[in-house]
Formats: sequence, structure tokens, C-alpha cells
Amino acid sequence: MRRYFLVLLSVFMVGIVSQSVIADDGSSLPTNYFNQDAGDKSTGDFSIDDPNETPSNKKIAIPRDTPTPLEGVRWQKKTIWIYMRTSDPRLKSAFQNAVKNWNKVKEIKIKWTKDEDKANIIAADGDLSANNTNNGVGYQTAQLGETKTEYNPDTHELHKATSILDPYQLDYTNPNFRSEVAQHELGHALGLAHAPEYEHSVMVPRNIRTGITKNDRKSIHLLYQ
Ligand SMILES: [Zn+2]
Repeated sequence: MRRYFLVLLSVFMVGIVSQSVIADDGSSLPTNYFNQDAGDKSTGDFSIDDPNETPSNKKIAIPRDTPTPLEGVRWQKKTIWIYMRTSDPRLKSAFQNAVKNWNKVKEIKIKWTKDEDKANIIAADGDLSANNTNNGVGYQTAQLGETKTEYNPDTHELHKATSILDPYQLDYTNPNFRSEVAQHELGHALGLAHAPEYEHSVMVPRNIRTGITKNDRKSIHLLYQ
């Protein structure tokens, strides 16, 4: 039986970000890259045993020095299937637009499927308000989206990703902004990590200022080539 790691990757917030890597023994290793106020988000043991997994012992090579940082995992195949679980029309457009934008990286092809079991990535909605924080000086921050991934730590192969947008937190935003949040979350689902504030990247987690950049496309190209 193979043990997967399940990682809560992306906590996209206006204001702060916190990222927790759930270790195999259930302990949480919080890495708060951009804000000291971000709390520990221990969420218990997320590692699972998957009896349906087809063993593949081929280790995927992860490139170094990409313009946008990598999580160190990727999909085995370059055709990646995505399933639309949300029925919220505004979130659907955001995800659809984000997929179009990621497909401009010719190296990969993200395709929609109506079969959830076949899907690699799930595009979902969810209430992320429990993760919102208040730092005590009247500055409220909201989590807009998050992506959970499961991967095989031995082969670096992604097994499943779920990207969630919160329709309530995104209520008063415009379509362009919602698409950018979806692009950020799907960036995680493809294997990108958070970029530092000074980088020109959709993976800068706080107060997103841009969609997918040339650097982001180049990074995905290098990861999947
Ligand atoms: Zn993120």
C-alpha cells in the first residue's frame, strides 16, 4: 500500500497568508512565508492510503531555478483533466477563463471532463470563512481560495488536486479578479508554489496584482517539458 501526502497548499488571502504542510505522522509544519501573524493551521492527519492507486515507480525529475517557485510535484501526463463541481455561474466562468489562460502554455493541455472519477483536478466552491483572521487591530483578512493536493512523495507525482473558491468572499469582486484568483489556485494544482512579493507572478499570494505572467508560463513549461 502506498502512502500519499495530502497538502493544503494554497491559502490565498487578502492581507495574510499561511501555508501548512501536513507531515506523514500528522504533525503540522507551518511555514508562514509572508506574514508573522499567520496562525498555525494544524488540521490533523491528512495522509491516506489509496488501495486503487496503480503503482508507478518512475520518479519525475523536477527542474531547478524556475522563475516561479515549484512545489516539487507535477502530473505524470501532460493532458490534465478537470471537473467542474461548482454550479455557481461566476465561479464557473472564473475557472473556465483560468483554464484557457493556463492552456496558453503549449506544453500542457487542461481538458474539461464530465466524469468526476476521471478528473485530476476538481474545481469547487466552498466556505473558507473559518480560515479568516483578524489580527487584533481591526484589519480583517479574507481567504478567497485554496487548493489541496495529494501527491506521491517518492515519485513527485500529483495524484489529485481540489481548487476551491469561496463565492461569498468573492461576492463584490469583478470577473477579472475572480479569474486571477482561479489562475492562482490552478497554478498550485499544476505544481507551482508561492512566489515572493517582488516577483511578477500570479503566484504572489497577497493582494493579487496580476494574472498568469510570462515567468509563470515559462515555469510550467520547464516543469512539464
Ligand atoms: Zn496560494
